[in-house]
Amino acid sequence: MSEYKDIATPSRTREILKEHGFSFKKSLGQNFLTEPNILRRIVETAELDENSNAIEIGPGIGALTEHLARNAKEVIAFEIDDRLIPVLEDTMSPYPNVQIVHQDILKADIIKTTQELFSEKLPIKVIANLPYYITTPILMHLLASDLEIQEMVVMMQKEVADRISAVPGTKAYGSLSIAVQYYMHAKTAFIVPKTVFVPQPNVDSAILKLTKRDKPAVEVVDEDFFFRLTKAAFELRRKTLWNNLLHVFGKEDVNKQWYEQALAQAQIDPKRRGETLSLQEFANLANAMVALRP
Ligand code: SAM
Repeated sequence: MSEYKDIATPSRTREILKEHGFSFKKSLGQNFLTEPNILRRIVETAELDENSNAIEIGPGIGALTEHLARNAKEVIAFEIDDRLIPVLEDTMSPYPNVQIVHQDILKADIIKTTQELFSEKLPIKVIANLPYYITTPILMHLLASDLEIQEMVVMMQKEVADRISAVPGTKAYGSLSIAVQYYMHAKTAFIVPKTVFVPQPNVDSAILKLTKRDKPAVEVVDEDFFFRLTKAAFELRRKTLWNNLLHVFGKEDVNKQWYEQALAQAQIDPKRRGETLSLQEFANLANAMVALRP
């Protein structure tokens, strides 16, 4: 038990905001957590201990950061808002294992920063209450970077968490589900009501747990093409796979022949819709298209 009062109570949060004359910027997705129990559950879900380092995105006034500091070996937190830097210097002063990096996470060289700032090379976990306006770009930025992330426990709008963890044949399943599930196992850990934030967002949130797969979910010969194809398949949502291929890759005869042969080789009916294809079927089709490319 820490000797310090939790930041994430409504009264302590109000006190800190008032002391620093801080006003929320909606454009930066600032919704701060004010419920310590939720923070404890996040840390439990991440199974954080002294044998792991934590990266946080958007520490705000440090509500989650202090829980990470109490449980992980070291914490690096990226915060874009310069007004929060002096606040964090103040609220994080009891925690020498926290380093705040004043940077836009989307522009940060995360590998270099972690190599420079973590004193020991331990498994890295990303834990964050993400700014909702850039949830997907942040996840893609992290997944596409070569940073070895063992696990991510991230809060986002429930609807986005549903899309990421969706299975084929459901309405929520799409290119985002595939892009994330290719690298990680995805599971919603729990739902967070909007009432525990200041200011309150319009929708409920969910904690998504993403665990790194030993190797990508499917074998593809050309990752870029695989992701292009999965995006293309959902381009026109209610159209068939065939129509989306025509729409995205071209309607010329030579292309039509290409799709026909590749679909036949991958044993996929051209009349199916993208949302019915499993990751394996997308991989089979992408590999066949690469092999038969005119
Ligand atoms: N972690 C705090 C909490 O749970 O109370 C705050 C979470 S709030 C939803 C999102 C935080 O991300 C804000 O502090 C915001 O300033 C920060 N932020 C927004 N865009 C960012 C970016 N591109 N890079 C780094 N931080 C960002």
